[in-house]
Amino acid sequence: MTKPLTGEPALIEALARIFGAAPPEVVLGIGDDCAALDLGGPDYLLWTVDTLVEGVHFDLGYTTLRQLGRKSLAVNLSDVAAMGGTPRYTLLSLGWPKGRDPAGALELAEGLAELGREYGVAVIGGDSVASGDGAAITITVLGTVPKGEMLRRAGARGGDRIFVTGPLGEAAAGLEVLKRRLTLEPALKEPLGQALLDPRPQLRAGRLLASQRLASAMIDLSDGVATDLYHVCRASGVGARLAGAAIPVSPQVRAVARILNQDPLDLALKGGEDYQLLFTSPPELAETLESAFRQAGLPAPLSLGVIIPGDSVLLQTPEGGRDISGAGFNHFRLDRGGGSV
Ligand SMILES: [Mg+2]
Repeated sequence: MTKPLTGEPALIEALARIFGAAPPEVVLGIGDDCAALDLGGPDYLLWTVDTLVEGVHFDLGYTTLRQLGRKSLAVNLSDVAAMGGTPRYTLLSLGWPKGRDPAGALELAEGLAELGREYGVAVIGGDSVASGDGAAITITVLGTVPKGEMLRRAGARGGDRIFVTGPLGEAAAGLEVLKRRLTLEPALKEPLGQALLDPRPQLRAGRLLASQRLASAMIDLSDGVATDLYHVCRASGVGARLAGAAIPVSPQVRAVARILNQDPLDLALKGGEDYQLLFTSPPELAETLESAFRQAGLPAPLSLGVIIPGDSVLLQTPEGGRDISGAGFNHFRLDRGGGSV
């Protein structure tokens, strides 16, 4: 039986009941990375929103305001990437504490505009209000995806392979380094800090997968593979088996896990904020997939496991199999971006 939902997924289900049925032009409502609308024309309109709250999702002791501005847009662009879409426009709503130097708000806006320019996304308006103790940043992004190319969480089938577009656990390891002030060689520390504070949404990979119809389902990794793959499984009505030996764990994640006396697979699978894409792809497309990424100059997707019948995410290691469906560390929960509706 499917596990009962708790926490944020349960709240989202309760909200969906309150909001009721969507009008017919809403192709996708609550429960994916973006909502999708059919307003006519060749494309669907994609729409997503995310909020970052000071003391919950970020700590100004770790991040600059410019980085924060970049990241607050990046996490939204990652949701558009997860649909195979192209982001177009963004609005910013900024809650800025009364009495705090407004120059900081401008630095944040500069970071936001900078990332927008890098990805061809225009900031076209917003709102600013005085907030209580901390800052709160809400960003909404509009994007487009050609009808017939949109990828969603539903669609994975038994036998499909499970892939990610890049390394896992780096942001979670980076957060541990900053929170615990761990001493690490700069060559190990820098990529972790970059992964946590300045994530790069995988828009090119998302478009490639969608336009060449190489994936059956897709999600972006905001909460960690254990949770996000479970979302794909629930939406698709399938289970998943991950091969422990195939999980990509970089030397720097391994180094942090060693210092913390933790299983590096926990950082890789249960840590949040990777903002890589996780997708499933039929086995007969394996060669096409590899050559498409190579021709596009993108790193080859990494295979983690396979979709199986059932409703759980199983991790297979030499010690045996364990169910990691929806598993995550509670102490990451405070520092990661919330889910999107
Ligand atoms: Mg997402």
